[in-house]
Amino acid sequence: MPDVMDKRKDDVEILKKGVDVLIIGGGITGAGVFNMLSALGINAALIEANDFAFGTSSRSSKLIHGGLRYLANGQFSVVRDSVRERDFLIEKSGIVELKNFLIPLDEFSWSRSSLRFGLWIYSLFSRKIKARWYSREEIKNKYPFLENTPQKGGYVYAEGVVDDSRLVIQNIMSGKAHGNIALNYAELISLDFDVDGVKQARIRDKITGEEFDVKLRILVNSAGPWVGRVFQMMGKRYPDLDSLSSMLKLSKGDHIIVRRDLYPVDLALAIRSPLDKRQVFIIPRGDVVIIGTTETYYRGSLEKPLPSEEEIDYLIESVRRYVNIRKEDIINAYSGIRPLFGKGEDLGKISREYKIIKKDNIINVLGGKITTYRTVSKKISRIIMDSLGVKGNPEISFIYRRDPESVREELKRNYSLEDDEVKYAYDIIYENAFHLDDILWRREGYFIFSDDSGVNEIQGCIGAMKKVLGYGDDILNEEKRSYMDSIYFPMQSLKKD
Ligand SMILES: Cc1cc2nc3c(=O)[nH]c(=O)nc-3n(C[C@H](O)[C@H](O)[C@H](O)COP(=O)(O)OP(=O)(O)OC[C@H]3O[C@@H](n4cnc5c(N)ncnc54)[C@H](O)[C@@H]3O)c2cc1C
Repeated sequence: MPDVMDKRKDDVEILKKGVDVLIIGGGITGAGVFNMLSALGINAALIEANDFAFGTSSRSSKLIHGGLRYLANGQFSVVRDSVRERDFLIEKSGIVELKNFLIPLDEFSWSRSSLRFGLWIYSLFSRKIKARWYSREEIKNKYPFLENTPQKGGYVYAEGVVDDSRLVIQNIMSGKAHGNIALNYAELISLDFDVDGVKQARIRDKITGEEFDVKLRILVNSAGPWVGRVFQMMGKRYPDLDSLSSMLKLSKGDHIIVRRDLYPVDLALAIRSPLDKRQVFIIPRGDVVIIGTTETYYRGSLEKPLPSEEEIDYLIESVRRYVNIRKEDIINAYSGIRPLFGKGEDLGKISREYKIIKKDNIINVLGGKITTYRTVSKKISRIIMDSLGVKGNPEISFIYRRDPESVREELKRNYSLEDDEVKYAYDIIYENAFHLDDILWRREGYFIFSDDSGVNEIQGCIGAMKKVLGYGDDILNEEKRSYMDSIYFPMQSLKKD
């Protein structure tokens, strides 16, 4: 079992020899492309400035869905593609589950006839998952908790739910299992050009502090909301990319998390807010219920987006008739940034369809959804295959399966681990975790899906980090402080230590 730091050093040395394709960004888009290219045997590498899935891909509503509301905007191709991808991921990924959703008919919902029409179109795209009408009486019998809510019956249909960051990790680890390199905490800081486009990338290793250059033939810019910053690195060479930046709009979406006992029903709700008729979801997951989302123009920090007071109030007010929560019931919250590309000021109306912009040997990708990551990855992979003269059928591979149990005894022996430290050691050794939130948010999901936001797991993680990574007490105390700070309490005075 190679030491984590030695393995990283070896990977950096291999990268320095150059790659055919360098992918910037370890969100779902970069992860999907990396997975597909690796399965094709193409020499590709992925670098991620923070942790894998640090950006929007760990901060979504975690739905693998057709997106009924897009029908209302006439975005039929988004819905068709999404429904098909949803069915594929439910069948193949092993980590997307079905969940029933109720769209209640109430005074703010779409009319029964438009819902019926929308769901009929849905069923044309997917014959597998059918919607069914439930009268108020039937809902009351099946879900007594909803008895006092204002619906007049509604349609129940199924969508996929996923742990979004786990899907990213799964794709990246599958790509690595094919022999390619993916480095988290490795940031693109500048680019060098020659007549054919980019020839070299300068990368900062945020774990060791080293800076190094990587020669490349093709660059994929899948930096999500940061895509514009990478445009700036190309600005001198491609001034038109800079002007395209004005069509890039950052929109923030917030979610609040409350305990499950406030909404003890295993049925998600897709309602429309009485405030502005936007769609808001109430989604029971694990020990908690996730409620979201908002949509506002965003100009703040991309690294630490947070909900504002008004946005929290908006969500509470929007769902009050179905789940009556107070600010102090909120146990955590998170925000994600959508990079939208399009004209017009109405964010809700800008297409969620992805856009690929190719310049010489650079492929930039903007927008999109987690649900359709395989479609985007295929498009990008085909462009790359044409350029490199590679034949084959690009496809996502699911060869990596997480399995801490298979190495439990070996890990315990090698690192003198306690039982409760084993899976965290696995996250570090096999899935490249370096920090507490890498483990508790993006590898294990406790930050979002547990009703203590992962606080009770901190000790086990600290033990594993000390024994495997050799971190001293100062670093571990700082890790703990920064994790506790990242848990969002709208009522700061109630914050626990
Ligand atoms: C609130 C919200 C809810 C959503 N809900 C859903 C949903 O339920 N279902 C769905 O299908 N879609 C949903 N989406 C859309 C979906 O989350 C995004 O389309 C998707 O996550 C975008 O992934 P990405 O890889 O393009 O970007 P990101 O996940 O943001 O990844 C980009 C990565 O690039 C890295 N990076 C940036 N600069 C550099 C650099 N210089 N060097 C190296 N790396 C760099 C960042 O650290 C980041 O990790 C939602 C979006 C939002 C905002």
